[in-house]
Amino acid sequence: MNEKKVDLPSLKSKGFLPQKQENTFSMRLHSTGGRIETAQLRAIADAAEKYGDGHIHITSRQGIEIPFVKLENTDIIIEAMENADLFGGASGKKVRGVVACQGNTVCNHGLINCPEIAEKIDAMYFGTYAPKKFKIAVTGCPAACMKPQENDFGIMGMVLPTWVEENCVDCGRCVKTCKAGALSIEDGKLQIDREKCILCGECIAACRKGALRAEKTGYTIFVGGKVGRFPRACTKLLEMADEEQLFSVLEKTLEYYREHGMEGERFGDLLDRLGFEKYRETIF
Ligand code: SF4
Ligand code: SF4
Ligand code: SF4
Repeated sequence: MNEKKVDLPSLKSKGFLPQKQENTFSMRLHSTGGRIETAQLRAIADAAEKYGDGHIHITSRQGIEIPFVKLENTDIIIEAMENADLFGGASGKKVRGVVACQGNTVCNHGLINCPEIAEKIDAMYFGTYAPKKFKIAVTGCPAACMKPQENDFGIMGMVLPTWVEENCVDCGRCVKTCKAGALSIEDGKLQIDREKCILCGECIAACRKGALRAEKTGYTIFVGGKVGRFPRACTKLLEMADEEQLFSVLEKTLEYYREHGMEGERFGDLLDRLGFEKYRETIF
């Protein structure tokens, strides 16, 4: 019989989530933006074979878990993972691992460097205290593949297009490309309806004449979104923020949450309790 004493809080802090099977854990690994090196994948596969049941689970937030780790193997699997520069993921009342798409490093639609932003945020805040889980997502464009609107703090790349009249040949290609119906050509002049424009930059990519350019690239910030048992729609806090504003707003948001949030209260619920305006006034 296994006599090893279960120190659940300590195990959870190292990424071990208790399974329904007694003294059995799923080891959650920390990853940022879903990036894992191939050598690390091999180490994970080896560990899953030796200390799990030979399979891994890919989580909904780009993480990897190794299920069916027995209590007596927790120390040795930690060592095996650390040798591959892998560490336990966060659970409970903490800032969770940042999820991100590959943004403009890979994707044709990407407007910002999501992995770089995610790494920076992760280095500053991963695993730090929050009254409840605090989820952050970085997505490269308004296609919003990483669902920033469903996170406590969501970041989305955006671009403001501007028309360069002298280069335009009135081909209409951009008008056909714009899914928002924000473009029209009137009397040979391209009109951009700023109310309809979702700042996706597709028209810029479509124009072969260099007649649409990025006037400014920035970040949209959403706050207070969540799914789960009690979903809450996010609120758009800021559009076209620069990187300095982004990090300042994130820092102040976490400060506000830590100061005013009740234990176990999600950030969106705090906004409902104290009011969005109070939060906005405080952080700006
Ligand atoms: S959000 Fe945009 S940049 Fe990111 S993967 Fe989707 S389409 Fe590409
Ligand atoms: S695609 Fe370029 S060249 Fe063609 S109408 Fe639009 S802006 Fe002008
Ligand atoms: S940025 Fe997107 S929404 Fe705005 S005009 Fe261009 S294609 Fe249309």
